[in-house]
Amino acid sequence: MATNAPLLQFYDPNKLLTLSVDASSKGLGAVLIQNQKPVAYASRALTQTQQQYPQIEKETLAIVYGCNKFHEYVYGRRVQIETDHKPLQSIFLKPLHQTLPRLQRLLIALEKYDLKVDYKPGKEMYLADHLSRSFLKETKEVLVPDLHVNDIHLISHMPIAPEMYAKFQKETANDEHLQELQDVIFDGWPNEKSELLHSLRPYWTFRDELSVIDGLLYKSNKAIVPKALQNEMLDKIHESHLGIVKSKSRARDVLFWIGMGQDIEDKVKACGLCAQHQSLNAKEPMLMPEIPERPWSKLATDLFEYQKQHYLLVVDYYSKWPEVMKLDNETSKSTIDYLKGLMSRFGYIDELVSDNGPQFSSLEFKRFATEYGFKHTTSSPSNGQAERSVQTIKKLIMKSKDPHKALLDYRNTPLDIDLSPAQLFLNRRLKTSLPTSLPLLMPQNINNREIIKKLKIRQRKAKTNFDKHCGPELKQLKQGDGCVTEETVGI
Ligand SMILES: [Zn+2]
Repeated sequence: MATNAPLLQFYDPNKLLTLSVDASSKGLGAVLIQNQKPVAYASRALTQTQQQYPQIEKETLAIVYGCNKFHEYVYGRRVQIETDHKPLQSIFLKPLHQTLPRLQRLLIALEKYDLKVDYKPGKEMYLADHLSRSFLKETKEVLVPDLHVNDIHLISHMPIAPEMYAKFQKETANDEHLQELQDVIFDGWPNEKSELLHSLRPYWTFRDELSVIDGLLYKSNKAIVPKALQNEMLDKIHESHLGIVKSKSRARDVLFWIGMGQDIEDKVKACGLCAQHQSLNAKEPMLMPEIPERPWSKLATDLFEYQKQHYLLVVDYYSKWPEVMKLDNETSKSTIDYLKGLMSRFGYIDELVSDNGPQFSSLEFKRFATEYGFKHTTSSPSNGQAERSVQTIKKLIMKSKDPHKALLDYRNTPLDIDLSPAQLFLNRRLKTSLPTSLPLLMPQNINNREIIKKLKIRQRKAKTNFDKHCGPELKQLKQGDGCVTEETVGI
């Protein structure tokens, strides 16, 4: 450091303070500036590991370096950061959890500072730029623990079968397009979209969400699928024959490639089995009850028969989480046993809605309701929520070779409020056949109040939609009832 050089300006705590930083391929430079004159400057070499970092990480590391080095000056006051790396600007405006996992550890190191990041073209930043190239060989201080490019790997970041993981790595390496993308991620994005290869321009708007971990590319935490594996992924996405809307939301929740939505649409439209069951997609009216304030409070239940087998279906009003059980017989006792089993797993409920079937109107069932302390509401002949779900689940079972897998996919597919029954009910995603990165599988903090707001908006939208599309049928419904159409909640 050369803080004693005569050309330096004295530091004035009352004046605007700028920290100008830059990263070259091998070094970092930082200059403190007031009145357009340097107050102090510093530079250092990057470690071998840091030299492998993508440009965005090096540039962020330069800020960490500058703040560490000049902590006495920058701590406890507003500091303007100057960088020639434009994506940094938007990254600093995002909430931490929306940034790339590798960047997060650097951003956390900066949380104690009050920074405002401004972009400045490289040619106007000659001092920091110069320092980052003619750095001092001083690398002994540890800014943040070095993170090797391969530190986040197979088990920790993408918990999938090793064979599939290796296939992703191999096909990503063989994918010319993704290799071009990887190069840009490592070398840094140009300042203008027009300077990019044509094929990479679709990535421009979300360039600061892209990262490379252990040879796989990610958009935020969603794995980017190489061309050679897209067909295989499409098969998995449509494995349970979910419709277009659901297939898309299921895929978009965890995977990404350019044109994925269209590919899914083509796939579903070309599916013979789905075409065969098209008639089942008939729209039906549905009651619009009050939304409970939490999951597993109010449940709807119904019995149905499929291929001479009796099933009991239970669905949670709040999360739409379905439970299905094949029953040995249709007695009250087996229904009660099943419901008791559910309550032992997920807890007591406040209210159960069913029809007037003999299983539910027996004295035995009444005793059960009293003992387990829930209100039993019967609606005749049936209730919309259960009826609607019965159709959905029946269709799932019919179309799928493996009904368990189909149920899993259904539970894990985002509803139109962008959260799946699993997220609403269990506060996490479930692991399915689609490769899903670790951060997406971790428990989430779900904002209950936000959800209720969204659910209410959905209800209103569904009602408007119904009035528009199913207008005449509305007359058959009682006042206050509504319906949702296939587009809004359909499977
Ligand atoms: Zn299908």
